[in-house]
Amino acid sequence: MNSPAPSTRELVLVGAGHTNLHVVREWRTRPLPGVQLTLISPFGRATYSGMLPGTLAGLYQPDEMQIDLQRLTAGTGIRLIVAEATGLQPDARLITFADRDPVRFDVCSVGIGSVPGQREIWQSSSRVLSIKPMTTFLPRLDAIMALHEGAVDPLRCIVVGSGAAGTEVTFCLDHWLHSRGIAHRLTLIDGHAEILPGYVPAFVRTARRLMSARGVEVRLSQRVEAISETARLQSTVPKTVAPPSVQVRLSEGTTLFADLVIWATSATPPAVLDHFQLPKTDDGFLAVRATLQTTADAPVFVVGDTAGFVDQRLPKAGVYAVREGPILWQNLQNLLAGRPLVEYHPQRGFLSLLATGDRQAILQYKGWSLHGAWVWKLKDYIDRKFMRLFEAGRVRLG
Ligand SMILES: Cc1cc2nc3c(=O)[nH]c(=O)nc-3n(C[C@H](O)[C@H](O)[C@H](O)COP(=O)(O)OP(=O)(O)OC[C@H]3O[C@@H](n4cnc5c(N)ncnc54)[C@H](O)[C@@H]3O)c2cc1C
Repeated sequence: MNSPAPSTRELVLVGAGHTNLHVVREWRTRPLPGVQLTLISPFGRATYSGMLPGTLAGLYQPDEMQIDLQRLTAGTGIRLIVAEATGLQPDARLITFADRDPVRFDVCSVGIGSVPGQREIWQSSSRVLSIKPMTTFLPRLDAIMALHEGAVDPLRCIVVGSGAAGTEVTFCLDHWLHSRGIAHRLTLIDGHAEILPGYVPAFVRTARRLMSARGVEVRLSQRVEAISETARLQSTVPKTVAPPSVQVRLSEGTTLFADLVIWATSATPPAVLDHFQLPKTDDGFLAVRATLQTTADAPVFVVGDTAGFVDQRLPKAGVYAVREGPILWQNLQNLLAGRPLVEYHPQRGFLSLLATGDRQAILQYKGWSLHGAWVWKLKDYIDRKFMRLFEAGRVRLG
């Protein structure tokens, strides 16, 4: 007599970020027998943040920073669901959506990244561009630039947030505007007393020197308190249609006018996590142990920026998300097989590389900082090498 086939277990990855994509990559060559893998992503493409500033600067084609998830999962048995997860019910073991049936899981990994803070300020303004979602960043930028087309005054740009992402975007935006001959004024604003908080002084000094050489205004110890729509002030040169712009009110009382505001403040939890019924850390991320498993008694792992480790606080950086990949893959298998989980031990410090948009970059490693064209070559090499891991999902360049 034939014994009944063991029922298929459902392994669900929510979010196509660095860590979950490691699992997809492993699955392509070593699928787990008796397990159905499902990948959930709001977009059919995943964007590699390391190459977003370089793409903004015009150093890469947009497709070069994208992984085509359809292509990556084709022929692998992986079920791809292109939809935004809106909730997680650990008791019912369900991932919920706004406009489709829930997906059941036996084991799940949540890695939906983070978003810039103070959503209430930036979310409803036509001229404000949040750095997330990264996948739609460039089309959204193009839409704002189209509003400015034909304008005679210099484009007034503000970048809010001077962490690594905001600073890198400032350099790359400046380079892109220069290379297209678009006259502009660029201001970087941060509530901290210095840019690049947490970086070594030599690194910060280099970035400041390059900004001042390019005429970027840096306003520190000031927070953006409100952004409101306004009619653009009349140019001295006559112009048929004056595009609307925004007023940016700062904590010290000054108001700046801007045609484009890029919002790149520090990483905060995506709003949707309110509906993920799992324990959270004080700062609102999903609380995990060193094994990457939720602190709740549930078969759920949380990875990358979305994870809040209860025993330590890690910066929100892709290098951690990448290094968590092999641990997640191991622990998914361990949990499914009833074996003990292994722990993730983050490295102390890491190589930081910041593109300045002009085929140069600044490096920080163990207290050292260097700047030059060879640093950009190193960054370019590392980023391209990372993307080659997903060759099967690379968008074919025309
Ligand atoms: C411009 C920029 C440059 C950066 N450069 C560097 C760098 O050089 N080095 C570095 O270490 N770090 C860098 N970072 C930080 C780095 O991007 C993050 O730490 C890293 O992306 C975190 O990886 P993740 O997998 O957690 O999230 P992400 O890479 O953001 O991936 C999350 C995925 O989840 C998806 N998602 C979101 N919401 C949902 C939902 N509701 N349902 C399903 N899926 C969802 C998203 O579409 C996305 O694909 C940079 C960040 C930015 C913004």
